[in-house]
Amino acid sequence: MFDSHCHLTDLPDGEAAIRQARDAGVASVLTCGYDMTSNNAVLALSRRHPGLPHALGLHPWHATDEIEPILFLLERERPTAVGEIGLDLWGDPPPAPLPRQLAVLEAQLEVADRLQLPISVHSRRALPELLPVLRRFPRVRGALHACSGSHEQVRPFLDLGYLVGVSGAITRPHAVRLRRLARALPLDAILLETDAPAVGLEGIWPPHVRPAHLPQVLAALAEVRGESPERVESATDANAVALYGPGVLGPIEDP
Ligand SMILES: [Zn+2]
Repeated sequence: MFDSHCHLTDLPDGEAAIRQARDAGVASVLTCGYDMTSNNAVLALSRRHPGLPHALGLHPWHATDEIEPILFLLERERPTAVGEIGLDLWGDPPPAPLPRQLAVLEAQLEVADRLQLPISVHSRRALPELLPVLRRFPRVRGALHACSGSHEQVRPFLDLGYLVGVSGAITRPHAVRLRRLARALPLDAILLETDAPAVGLEGIWPPHVRPAHLPQVLAALAEVRGESPERVESATDANAVALYGPGVLGPIEDP
């Protein structure tokens, strides 16, 4: 089982979270940075744990930060993926002006394209704005993480070869639109994720979410789709390998 998007460096003890995940049957996780401080923390953790898949990038919430040091880091480190990157237009005003968000996203897509790295994408109220940008980089592949759009909104991204990350929100009985999307998606387009500690599960509030909760995401997704957890687990593992490479399922080594 693979947690395709989380933030180990935002947890009080990321190393304990790796062990707990392993004990819960989660073989590996992709841990993502979002600004310079978190990217450096992600790099330090990945050096202590060889084999830990990691993504570096500048999140749209931090789009007014300098982008050049992040681009430099991507070139030097060649991480598993570029992320967390994307667009966020929620709020008035949004966290950063759209033209600045677009410039930062495109600069990172250029590097992903050149280095042939997949991307982990954040989109909030921004799928219509995101689509034409991704279309300009047809060789780049990635995943829409913690996606909650409608199937109609998501379909053109599937046509581009993007995968969809299903988070712990699927465990909430009232997440009607997400459950509808999870049923409609082809199994070969789905990744599991916790986005720990940011996205809650039914009965588990965001600061307490850990990659070790991923089996609950798997169980809820399998139930919603009417498929066995074993089938969904092996398919999502295979999807992760296809996108992020053969080493992505671990093992994550201890220090
Ligand atoms: Zn995230």
